[in-house]
Amino acid sequence: MSRVALVTGGAGFIGSHTCKRLAEQGIVPVVYDNLSTGHRANVKWGPLVEGAIEDKERLAAAIRTHSPECLIHFAASAYVGESVEDPGKYYTNNVAGSIALLEACRATGLGRIVFSSSCATYGIPPQLPITEDMVQLPINPYGRTKLMIELMLGDYARAYGIRSVALRYFNAAGADPEGQLTEKHDPETHLIPRALMAAAGRIDRLDVFGDDYATPDGTCIRDYIHVTDLADAHVAAVNYLRDGGEVLHANLGSGHGTSVRQVLSAIDRVTGRPVPVQMLPRRPGDPPVLYADTNWARQRLGFRPQLSDIDTIIATAAPSFGLEVRS
Ligand code: UDP
Repeated sequence: MSRVALVTGGAGFIGSHTCKRLAEQGIVPVVYDNLSTGHRANVKWGPLVEGAIEDKERLAAAIRTHSPECLIHFAASAYVGESVEDPGKYYTNNVAGSIALLEACRATGLGRIVFSSSCATYGIPPQLPITEDMVQLPINPYGRTKLMIELMLGDYARAYGIRSVALRYFNAAGADPEGQLTEKHDPETHLIPRALMAAAGRIDRLDVFGDDYATPDGTCIRDYIHVTDLADAHVAAVNYLRDGGEVLHANLGSGHGTSVRQVLSAIDRVTGRPVPVQMLPRRPGDPPVLYADTNWARQRLGFRPQLSDIDTIIATAAPSFGLEVRS
């Protein structure tokens, strides 16, 4: 019998890359997506069920029809700034949507979930690198929704035996090295795609939000993790649950920090195209430095990032913006 995973949000950026890796490992990805931000063209490795995350009956019907061994839950609203302006959207889509999903799992007896969580659940960390046992004090509604869902998953495990892995992503970046998928967000707010758009002349310049941080070059430091490495971690999490693994929370990052200026230098080095920039004041709510301790994911899931050095991330993302990569 073939293995099946139901992938909510499978038409989105990280979801679609995960579907590709699932299929390559012999697990059929059934995508459940309302295509509000995902793209139909990203659904290439299994069927698409169009449906809303809050539609418990439709989710339960999809589970009964396809008999997945695991649910991978990406579907969510994911803009930090928007979550501050419109928290109702985030609590509805993310928290209420996840309740519907958990209830559909309960109703159908599906007992394994891999969940897209975020380093935004930590807020401003008291220490670096960030370990999973650190206090989680998110500083925006987006991070709070992800933390609430992690807490719900813990309660559903204790009460109903639904086992889950919450993967706390750091900064997902890059694109499929074989060029079958690209990073497409509308609006695009993330550093690497915006910087590549500026290098390609698709926008006038990149606004750099602050160069007066207490970091070596004054710009913020983040932990960029290649989306294909993230995808592999999801496949590992599905196998971990199949093998009887208990509830797990794990950071997924490269384990090292890269500043905004280092990202810009990498784009110049890899594509030969300098990024035109404008320095602006700090963006409210940006922690100065974030990077992950990834030992837990390494030990529990065998996580070994292969593509997460910054030059490879840029080289795989650049073609989506019409930029060539210098050999
Ligand atoms: N950033 C920037 N200009 C942009 C977008 C982002 O200077 O147009 C900075 C941002 O302030 C942060 C880093 O780049 O320090 C990464 O931001 P992004 O929005 O990609 O991810 P976040 O870490 O906020 O989730």
